[in-house]
Amino acid sequence: MPLLTVCRKAAVSLLWLLSGMLVAPAGAADNDIVSLDSYFSERWSTVDGLPHNTVNAIAQTPDGYLWFATWEGVARFNGRRFDIFERSERTGLPDSGIRSLYVAANGDLLVAGSRGGIARVNGQQWQSYPPLGVLINKVLVDSQQRLWLATEGEGVVVQTPDGRRRQFTEDNGLPANAAHSIFEDHLGQIWVGTMAGLALIDNSLTLSRPLSSQLTAPVFALAADSQQQLLIGTERGLFQLDQQQQLTELLAGVPVATLLAETSGELWIGTVDRGLLRLYGNKVEQLSIEQGLPNNRVLALWRDKERSLWVGTNGGMFRLRDAPFTTYSSEQGLADNYVRTVMSDGAACVYVGSSRGLDHICDGTIRNIDLSSHAKGQSVLSLAMGQHQSLWIGTYTDGLLHYADGKVIAHYNSKDGLAANEVRAILPRADGSVLVGTAQGLTLIENGQLSTPIDAVALPSPFIMALHQAADGRIFIGSGAGVSIWQNGEVSQLDFSVLDQAEYAFGFVEDPEADILWMTTDRGLVAFNLVSGQLALIGRSHGMPFDKLFQLVIDEQQHFWISTNRGVLRLARQQALDVIYGRRDNINYELFGESDGMASAQANGGSSPAASLHSDGSVWVATSVGVSKVQPARLSSFSAVTPPVVLEKLVADGKQYLPQQPVALAAGISRIELEYAGLGYIMPQRIQYRTRLDGFERDWVSRGTQANVQYTNLAPGHYTFNVAASYPDGGWSPAVATVSFTIAPHLWQRPVFQLLALLLLAALVIITVRWRLASLKRSELKLKMQVAEKTAELAALARLDSLTGLANRRAFDEAMQHELKRAKRQQEPLCLALLDIDHFKQVNDNWSHSVGDEVLKRVAATLQQYCRDIDTLARWGGEEFVILLPDTPLPLAQEVCDRLRLRVSETSFTDVVPELTITLSIGLATLNHKDDGKQLLIDADRALYRAKNQGRNTVISHAGPD
Ligand code: GH3
Ligand code: MG
Ligand code: MG
Repeated sequence: MPLLTVCRKAAVSLLWLLSGMLVAPAGAADNDIVSLDSYFSERWSTVDGLPHNTVNAIAQTPDGYLWFATWEGVARFNGRRFDIFERSERTGLPDSGIRSLYVAANGDLLVAGSRGGIARVNGQQWQSYPPLGVLINKVLVDSQQRLWLATEGEGVVVQTPDGRRRQFTEDNGLPANAAHSIFEDHLGQIWVGTMAGLALIDNSLTLSRPLSSQLTAPVFALAADSQQQLLIGTERGLFQLDQQQQLTELLAGVPVATLLAETSGELWIGTVDRGLLRLYGNKVEQLSIEQGLPNNRVLALWRDKERSLWVGTNGGMFRLRDAPFTTYSSEQGLADNYVRTVMSDGAACVYVGSSRGLDHICDGTIRNIDLSSHAKGQSVLSLAMGQHQSLWIGTYTDGLLHYADGKVIAHYNSKDGLAANEVRAILPRADGSVLVGTAQGLTLIENGQLSTPIDAVALPSPFIMALHQAADGRIFIGSGAGVSIWQNGEVSQLDFSVLDQAEYAFGFVEDPEADILWMTTDRGLVAFNLVSGQLALIGRSHGMPFDKLFQLVIDEQQHFWISTNRGVLRLARQQALDVIYGRRDNINYELFGESDGMASAQANGGSSPAASLHSDGSVWVATSVGVSKVQPARLSSFSAVTPPVVLEKLVADGKQYLPQQPVALAAGISRIELEYAGLGYIMPQRIQYRTRLDGFERDWVSRGTQANVQYTNLAPGHYTFNVAASYPDGGWSPAVATVSFTIAPHLWQRPVFQLLALLLLAALVIITVRWRLASLKRSELKLKMQVAEKTAELAALARLDSLTGLANRRAFDEAMQHELKRAKRQQEPLCLALLDIDHFKQVNDNWSHSVGDEVLKRVAATLQQYCRDIDTLARWGGEEFVILLPDTPLPLAQEVCDRLRLRVSETSFTDVVPELTITLSIGLATLNHKDDGKQLLIDADRALYRAKNQGRNTVISHAGPD
């Protein structure tokens, strides 16, 4: 064994880490990786469906699922929902406490934990191994398919594919019987981290104890870096063992719980009590509770396929990712979080005005510009670039400042003649003059002289929020009451009354190629054709989600970014043009918010500019929590990945099937429901789906973001269901999830049966004829009677409603003809009642169609039970019933109906749906003997109509001819 030495040259002092600050030793220039504080983080805990907040292990299987091991079972995560697998017959696990997960080379997931439970998961199939009877800390399958188990008190157990087991304990050389970590290096050797140092087991299963003199501390984590150097995480620091068997201490004193080494060279270190560290080059960064980590005890780390970093802690899951939006807030040094205006200087920097000052952000560095000498409140509302790189600053309470070369060179307020101190829009003009829009009108500044170019009364509202000079020289004034145009000393108003009553005009953007001036208003996006003067609105009726749009920015990719109170909308410019020219009816949009890296989706508007396009192509938006920026060119990298898609459930008439193998369904299945999931974790709420049911439809059907689909009353046959997923703007997942199922035909739906029936019928006819011929002598009357009886039975079958078993419409029509004749002949009164279930559609909508059916059956049974024997009750159709009451005068019929109404309202449905009450409206009419029955029905129907109008659950009799 080569001599091993400990080298401390690269060690980072723990003191730096304890200070809780990011540590960047001199000489570390790592611009190629995203700095830890600009990552976007999210967290999940038991509140979100995790079974327990201690996440011991994390893994992602090739199908795309993420798995989290906790003390209360394994949670399978699809981005929206956790499915929990615990001790059960299905998993075969002896205990729900899971310590370790491992994805084997074939894609199977190994699960191990308390009481030595071990299971192997393949898709939806669980297969368990005989439990070991002792807590398993780590499970691993090596390159020779051997299963390795590191246990808490019984050393290490290895099981070869042929089922033979071998155990390593203190008795045969293991440093301790408590083993915490296990790792296969690139040579196929197994490293074991125990309570008292390391052990190495070579390919022939010979155990040795390298480094036994230097490493005696508990070894909790083992990994290898991109140079195949072993990384050893111990209770007393992090070490590296290079190819020359030289041991280097990388981090002194830090208790390491878990490690994740990346090909980029980044090393993530989960610590026992200090949160998450990242070691890159010589730079160590720390992320702990202060930066939003749920807990400083980090137990598991995983990099998923979408490059998100998942961190399992003692307080739930934490996820770091590179999100489309980055936000600068007071946490990063902004003067205040309430940002009202943002403007690119056209070069390298961006100015940000907030309610407590002005900031200058250049290459991610924030510098505060102190205005306190001229503006006590420092509340900045508006900005504009002036001549010679000077800056105009509009404030809330202190008027207008002109800033150049690091100082305020001029200051105008109401005392100098400014219309008001509240400056919301600034328009510097080519001739050096500046038009200033305030809360109380316009002011023109020309060579230091202030004047009022337009009298406030000439404007529909003096509250000015936006100003724009078009290429043709016209000046557009956006106010609290629409838009005014100022041209050659004349002011005219744009007529907004046709535009869904739009009032507030928050901003202008000129689109010279289309000759359009886009205006953001409180009713949507208004397009003003600069040539024809025509106006068009893109609003809610075209699918815009909100009324109030603050500021529009057109990016280099020809997309509109629009800030709103509820996020930032992105839509294609071409679609907007198509809508205003009537080439399409609807606009598609994407909405960005908190889950995309904005600290708050609530953008600010009402002063200008509230959003801005920067010279590097990024779009900046003023929000109520900082300024958020998005780089549209990078956006495609977020949607470039297509999420894999899986089928989660197939439910046929309430019974659930695993959608893995072809599913055979019984005859008569009426409702099939499929649930699927796109396994993307970056924007899970925005994953789009399309489905196709082969055997039923030819083309894909777009399902939007809906993750399930139902089919009802499919004919017997063979079907294959296909589903694909995509992120908005991304392609469809190439791998489609499919499941085949077969619906068996009823006996009478089978061709063989139908043929047999035909033959049987033919045979019967022949037999009958023969028998009849042979029995001519028998009583002809008897035969006739028998035939009549059979016919009546068959007829009865065709006369019954298949759902409720009541007489059907046909049977009722016959009974009605019969009763009509009798009533007329005998001059007896005859009444007819139409009964309609109240608000029955809600029953279907709220519960389901099958609940609806159950209710119909029960109502039918109740009516049957309580109506009189002489009455004819039938299902009229849908949720309507009809009763014929022979020999019954109207007052008596009214009583009968009222009793029925009461009985139904008292009927209990608790076994179907708790607390459900069903009521009937009943329309009643009596026969006029001149009528052939038509009028009777019309009268009953009118009465029913009135019953509905009078509030339902009532019986109304038709009063007589009207
Ligand atoms: P109203 O009080 O005005 O009568 O309201 P309603 O919802 O009962 O009336 P509407 O005519 O709008 O809806 C009747 C519903 O009954 C619509 C239809 O889906 C449902 N329906 C009709 N036949 C059946 C059936 O056989 N089974 C089930 N479950 N629902 C049915
Ligand atoms: Mg109805
Ligand atoms: Mg009804």
